[in-house]
Amino acid sequence: MGSDMTVEHLQIDTLVVGAGQAGVAMSEHLSKLGVEHLVLERNRIAEAWRTGRWDSLVANGPAWHDRFPNLEFDLDPDAFAPKEQVADYFVEYARTFNAPIRTGVEVKQVVRNNGRPGFTIETSEGMIEANRVVAATGPFQRPVIPPIAPNDSNIHQLHSAAYRNPQQLPEGAVLVVGAGSSGVQIAEELMRSGKQVYLSVGAHDRPPRSYRNRDFCWWLGVLGQWDAEAAQPGKEHVTIAVSGARGGQTIDFRNLANQGMTLVGLTKAFNNGVVTFQPDLAENLARGDENYLALLDAADAYIERNQLDLPEEPEARKKHPDPACVTHPILELDLAAAGITSIIWATGYAVDFSWLKVDAFDAQGKPRHQRGVSSEPGIYFLGLPWLSRRGSTFIWGVWHDAKHIADHIVTQHKYRDYRDATQRQAEGDSQAQPFRIMGVS
Ligand SMILES: Cc1cc2nc3c(=O)[nH]c(=O)nc-3n(C[C@H](O)[C@H](O)[C@H](O)COP(=O)(O)OP(=O)(O)OC[C@H]3O[C@@H](n4cnc5c(N)ncnc54)[C@H](O)[C@@H]3O)c2cc1C
Repeated sequence: MGSDMTVEHLQIDTLVVGAGQAGVAMSEHLSKLGVEHLVLERNRIAEAWRTGRWDSLVANGPAWHDRFPNLEFDLDPDAFAPKEQVADYFVEYARTFNAPIRTGVEVKQVVRNNGRPGFTIETSEGMIEANRVVAATGPFQRPVIPPIAPNDSNIHQLHSAAYRNPQQLPEGAVLVVGAGSSGVQIAEELMRSGKQVYLSVGAHDRPPRSYRNRDFCWWLGVLGQWDAEAAQPGKEHVTIAVSGARGGQTIDFRNLANQGMTLVGLTKAFNNGVVTFQPDLAENLARGDENYLALLDAADAYIERNQLDLPEEPEARKKHPDPACVTHPILELDLAAAGITSIIWATGYAVDFSWLKVDAFDAQGKPRHQRGVSSEPGIYFLGLPWLSRRGSTFIWGVWHDAKHIADHIVTQHKYRDYRDATQRQAEGDSQAQPFRIMGVS
């Protein structure tokens, strides 16, 4: 493990691209199954956790849950690991099985070989030949800012991927667009730092942080929801608003408004310094409430069915009254008049597989695969949203997907190594040759 080795002309069975949690999990399973492999990482192990997110980020799930099966965090199991500790965890994990990871090497291009098996890989350190390539380059590669973003040099604009802390922003109010886990956590941090914050809230799920003494991660697990194979129809673009910040609290938008945050609906357009919002705030909150209450109902039914001794929690069903920004929604806002000097786009990410020049993508450029096994034999994807289930992008989910891919690779080895009777005999004869000669003489 390290950056001191050069790649040059290397031949390897399986090349794994990326050493985030996905690449580390992949390497563990390949190691266990004895598959010769190499992991190339352009930065450091788990770089996204170490430097790719804001300073105060902690894991969204508790330490007992958001981990691989074979190593626990050195932390209270119900606490939420700070991002640095998550990064250290993966470094330590890779060390436990001496993962063959080379850091500081970028994979620039992968092409299928012509007239012979395998792929030729161009890296920043030389060429590699591999029979198989696993793209473990992450679900969140390219920050996406929608085209409605204003072309206004007076407004400081950044994606949530570039946000680090409140001190980074100029004086003045801020509009945070997007209220998934990133948007809502950043908005709350900015509000607590004393800024006037406008938060643009779209469709979201909003599970309780915990209910009847069990974290929502536990509930989604026992209710089988992490294992859902596809988003419910119509919910493909619904984000999930959760937070482990300050010990972990339920995201309650009305409560944030009571504390001074101004909620607005989906951001529609910017024209001449004026931003407009959809009149959908109340509806988006109501749908979020529905999702919240549905989980409480499912949890109650589960407790009843299994006769679990977990304390009742009727206060979880109490709803704060709608604040003025919900009953009288702002549909139009003059940015200068509102004192808005920054916009943070917490609007998600896209993948970028421009380096992977193989036949594993559909007409829209989306990876074509079944549980990570792509339509181009020998190419695999790992860590993508819904790769096999809802948990696929998460720490605990990617581990299982990696196992499936490693098993598939071993099965392919079995086909590759098969010899028919004639071949076996010929190979047997040639292998027996020295023995016969020696035996005769
Ligand atoms: C703000 C935020 C909070 C999250 N919180 C949680 C959480 O609490 N719990 C949880 O389970 N999940 C969480 N996730 C989701 C997920 O766990 C992380 O996104 C995680 O980083 C994904 O791991 P990965 O290995 O799939 O991808 P990444 O961590 O992005 O790793 C991919 C690696 O590939 C490398 N790479 C890319 N291209 C190349 C190339 N061409 N050559 C060489 N290397 C390359 C990158 O440098 C990177 O290190 C969170 C995500 C975000 C954005």
